[in-house]
Formats: sequence, C-alpha cells, structure tokens
Amino acid sequence: MNNDLNESKIAEIVRNVLNDGPDYVPLHEPSFHGREWECVKDCLDSGWVSSAGNYVEILERKLEEYTGAAHAISVVNGTAALHLCLRLLGVGMGDEVLMPALTFVATANAVSYCGAIPHLVDSDRKTLGICPEKLADYLKEIAEMKRGACSNSQTGRPIKALLVMHTLGHPADLEPLLEICEKYELLLIEDAAEALGSLYQGKHAGTIGTVSSLSFNGNKIVTTGGGGAVLTNDDELAYRAKHLSTTAKRPHVWEFIHDEIGYNYRMPNLNAALGCAQMEQLDVFIDKKRKLAEKYKEAFRNVEGISFFAEPEYARSNYWLNALVLDHKHAHQRDTLLEILNRQGIGARPLWKLMNELEMYRSCPRMDLSVSEELVQAVINIPSSPDLVNIISNPGLVTTIKTPGLG
Ligand SMILES: *Cc1c(COP(=O)(O)O)cnc(C)c1O
Repeated sequence: MNNDLNESKIAEIVRNVLNDGPDYVPLHEPSFHGREWECVKDCLDSGWVSSAGNYVEILERKLEEYTGAAHAISVVNGTAALHLCLRLLGVGMGDEVLMPALTFVATANAVSYCGAIPHLVDSDRKTLGICPEKLADYLKEIAEMKRGACSNSQTGRPIKALLVMHTLGHPADLEPLLEICEKYELLLIEDAAEALGSLYQGKHAGTIGTVSSLSFNGNKIVTTGGGGAVLTNDDELAYRAKHLSTTAKRPHVWEFIHDEIGYNYRMPNLNAALGCAQMEQLDVFIDKKRKLAEKYKEAFRNVEGISFFAEPEYARSNYWLNALVLDHKHAHQRDTLLEILNRQGIGARPLWKLMNELEMYRSCPRMDLSVSEELVQAVINIPSSPDLVNIISNPGLVTTIKTPGLG
C-alpha cells in the first residue's frame, strides 16, 4: 500500500484557504493601500529624493517608536545593515562568527565582507532558529577561553559573536542564547530582516542583541523598495552606525572631511518616504498575516503527515512567511509537492539551501547540522501576502493596486 501524501489534495486545501483567489498567487507581494502615493509625491515635489530630506528622520523615529529600540539608523538594504552591525562590534579579519547554516545567503555574506568566517550551527525544529542546547554542548567541546576571550580550539581563531536569525519571522529562543553569549563573552547580533513586528517574550525582535538589522526589501513585511535599518540601544554605537553609513563625513558646511573609511549606505529619502507610509500600516499587515496563518493552521489541523508551522510559545510572530512542515517519512515528496503547488498557481517555495552547500561556504567550520538538513527537506513556504486576507473575507474580490492618475 502507498502511504504517500496526496499532493493534489494538499494543493486543494491551500486553494480553499485562499478562496480560489487570482489565477496565480505569489509567495509574497507588497501591499500599497495607505499613503504611499501621497508620501512619495510629496518627496518628489520637495526635490529632496536622495541624501537629504525629512523622510529618513521620520522613518527612523517611527522604527524606534514601534520597536522600542533607542536608535534606528536606516540604510540601503538589510545586507548593508548586517555588515554595519558586524563592523560596529569590531568583527574583522580572521574572526569567526557563529551563525545558523539555515539562513538566507546575506547573513553569511555580511560576515565575509568583514574578512570574518561564518561558523555554522544547527537549528531547532520548534523555532527554526539556532538551537541553544545543541550550541551549548558544542561550545563545551570546541570553545576555549583565554583572558576573557573565546576562541575555537580547532582553528585557533577568535570567536567574536553569535549572529542569530529569526526565521520566517519567528523569533529564535534568545534567552538561553544570551546566556551562552555571557558565558563565552560573545556579542549577540540579531538578523531580524524577517521579523519586523515580531515579539520575543513581549520585547520586539531586534532589541535584545547589542545591534540588530532589519530589511525593507520588496518581499519583506514592510518595504521601502530596497532598504534596511540598524537597531541598537547603545548611544555610541548608534552614532557610529550613522557616521559609517554616511561616508564617515564630519558635519561641516562646505568642507569634505572624512575621518575613516566609511560606506555610502544611507537610505535615499525617496525610499524612506515609501517606508513611512508602510510603517503606518504595519499593525494592519501583522493582523492580516496572523489571520491568514490562523486559517492555514485550521485547514491543516487534521491533515495526516503534514503540519502548519506555528509560532513558539514565547513569541508573537509576524508570520512573515507561512510554512508547512512535512513529516519525516514524507520529506521525499517535497519537490513533487512544490511542482504541483506551482503548477496550480500557488507560489510555493522551499527554504534556502544550507550555507555549507553553497560553493563559497563549503569549507566553513560547522557543527553537526542534521536538524537543519531535515528542515530544508521538510519545509515549504506558502502564499503569505497581507492582501490575501481581503480575498478570504470577500470571496471573489481580487484587490487592485491603485495607480496614479495621468491627467
Ligand atoms: C532579506 C534578508 C536579508 C537581507 O536583506 P536585503 O534587504 O535583501 O539585503 C538578510 N537576512 C535575511 C534572513 C533575510 O531574509
């Protein structure tokens, strides 16, 4: 007897949640039903589209207010934000940074931009983030403390920081990870690119690490077209983040004094204008995403062999991307299921390839990654756009995106 899952049946359940919806439902689309046109037009009318103008400041204050971080510094994208985070903490040539193997390539690239080496660690089935127990056991084996600094006894290199990532918007279990950081004198950095609006024990993701990064790419919960931000509670680091991201230029009316090698990472005002309008709707987006997640969860509650990934109990997640998890015995069906979902107009995607499977990161130091390997084989992301909720509550209604008048 064949005990395989019926892929078409699963596609049908997803379709039903979406009340049929449009012919093709992408994995994630931005939603522009607020003051986007108004703010972008105002920005254009002002003539300040680039490195000066009010919207950058307004966006930064909105991010601080929303997350509770003392400082937000907006930049060109999430990768640049991560690069800055690492630079701010002094991560440099030959340092190792502990980070999940299960992440988007930007996390590892940012480490590499500093001349540092990603040291890959395993993830947890219940959180999709770094597994604290497994990391603690591993460090007991390989970490060496010398004069208050941690090094890798196998490579002789310093281990500087722990870079966590909040996968699909679900916060990693930060409390035990912080304990590990204290024990081994590691700095905690959060790659919160996917987690704007997510809470860990009531605190906003990205406010627990010493520095954190956000992304406002077009596929994230809030978009500026392309953009990102650094969050920190440290006044000094915030000042340095702004300085480094603006070519390290000293304020002066006409003189060009740059006091170190900085970056042109500042977010253009035009992008910030879009971001301001988007931030006004963040609570609405989260509400819609949580409703959509609830629908999926309900629809898959009694389906054998596959389950909906729900937020860990310590978290309130933004459910940036919804995920289905195949039981171990059905994991071999992942690709067929992806084929069938996509053929039926459902923009489903797998998780990323593990970093150690990418050519340039093949030889990175790493621990046993068996759980990450299982997760990659088991997880399928399904459509998660906030506007899908309009379709759910108004069957047959396909939302139209407002276009500007031509006259
Ligand atoms: C999107 C993303 C980034 C990078 O953001 P960009 O704005 O695209 O540079 C970094 N890390 C993770 C986990 C992401 O999902």
